[in-house]
Amino acid sequence: MTDVDDAELAPALGSTPVPKVHINEAWCKHCYICVSVCPRGVLTLDESRLVGGYRPVVVKDDDARCTGCRNCELLCPDLAIQVDVPESSHR
Ligand code: SF4
Ligand code: SF4
Repeated sequence: MTDVDDAELAPALGSTPVPKVHINEAWCKHCYICVSVCPRGVLTLDESRLVGGYRPVVVKDDDARCTGCRNCELLCPDLAIQVDVPESSHR
């Protein structure tokens, strides 16, 4: 996956509603595919907690970087991610 240059999105950031990423920890099997396919580095591991012996996936503080591309949702094998993309958010 290629990363997207911040400068490309600068006009949109801050002016449009931000997509919201929901992670269902009960369904997550900690394969971390979502972390690896996110082109914006929005998802990461929570180093402060263990769930079933694994680090849970969380949204970083800078989740405003999420483009709503839904890579994470579409490629999660356990349907543990849902991305709500506001209608007016086209990034
Ligand atoms: S892709 Fe799905 S199952 Fe795998 S770590 Fe991410 S949320 Fe969990
Ligand atoms: S929707 Fe796209 S940009 Fe947002 S967290 Fe998922 S993979 Fe990353």
